[in-house]
Amino acid sequence: MFDSNEIQKVGQLLTEPKKIALISHKNPDGDTLGAALAMMHYLRAKGHQVEALVPNAFPEFYHWLPGSREMHIFDQAAKHVRQIISDAEVIFCLDFNSLDRAGNMAGDLIKASAVKIMIDHHLAPSDEFDYCFSVVDTSSTGELVYEFIDALGDKDNLKINESLALYTCIMTDTGSFSFSCNRARTYEIIADLIDRGVDAAKVHKLVYDTFTENRLRLLGFAISSRMLVWNDLHAAVIHLSKEDLNRFDFQIGDTEGVVNYPLSIAHINLAILMTEKDDIIRLSFRSKGDFDVNLLARKHFNGGGHRNASGGNSKLLLPQVLELLKDILPQYRESLDYQITLG
Ligand code: 5GP
Ligand code: MN
Repeated sequence: MFDSNEIQKVGQLLTEPKKIALISHKNPDGDTLGAALAMMHYLRAKGHQVEALVPNAFPEFYHWLPGSREMHIFDQAAKHVRQIISDAEVIFCLDFNSLDRAGNMAGDLIKASAVKIMIDHHLAPSDEFDYCFSVVDTSSTGELVYEFIDALGDKDNLKINESLALYTCIMTDTGSFSFSCNRARTYEIIADLIDRGVDAAKVHKLVYDTFTENRLRLLGFAISSRMLVWNDLHAAVIHLSKEDLNRFDFQIGDTEGVVNYPLSIAHINLAILMTEKDDIIRLSFRSKGDFDVNLLARKHFNGGGHRNASGGNSKLLLPQVLELLKDILPQYRESLDYQITLG
């Protein structure tokens, strides 16, 4: 899985207590939060001084994760977070592979003198790290954190808090085991986490069955009133303006998952969600099958991610981004024209 020489060096680095900063990516999701929290509990139990740092606030449906309230949010405590970064001797970057994904913290991370260690599963890692534990063909960063701890010989240090965090990583990054979930090893790890006390059904409910009424109504509105289906292109786009979001009292995390719904139409292979933020349009891309949305996001929207899930942004206005999509997508007409079959 990992280069044993590199694992040995990192193991050596961690033999004495260190000041460690754990970094999650911008607009934190379950994987980046769970990976950081699992590492936080694990490294603290080993005697290190550990702080977990996130660029901006994360959805309430992750607040139940043990330790999540101790995470420092750069947007809310910039000075303190900057100090932690400059004091750190070791920095772990979790679930992202280039420092610009750390949003407002990126500049401080670039300047930091700490040893920088990346654990991640996204395509095309940058060379900004001293150690790079990158495996693209894996469900989640949480799965890699499990392998990392196992490789250090510490699997039995995984207690309930670590296990809950890692289970959340794998569950959320596979869409509850509906994609990136074809490796038997993932289920061996899941079985072990359940043996360590994770209540899988409860975790699912805590993450997915905790909507506000407004959030569910926004989902209904997005699908019934803001979804364009371009059948000839096998693509569908949902677009939500600031006004739309305000109407449903938008809270962080309320649009999470919305982008997946158009893919439940039989012949739709590409789904796009556009949301209007203060000064940019944020785009989320999902595909089913071979169409590579990482390339689409990289090439046209200053973003990236995975083959079937990526994100990006645009400085244009919402109607202009829609026009841009209408211009761009026809060039992908042939690569979008396929059917999912068993064979
Ligand atoms: P989401 O649409 O859920 O925000 O992101 C889907 C996937 O794409 C995630 O794995 C995320 O890390 C990645 N991603 C989202 N936005 C960006 C971006 O702006 N740049 C890059 N490189 N990856 C992104
Ligand atoms: Mn991930």
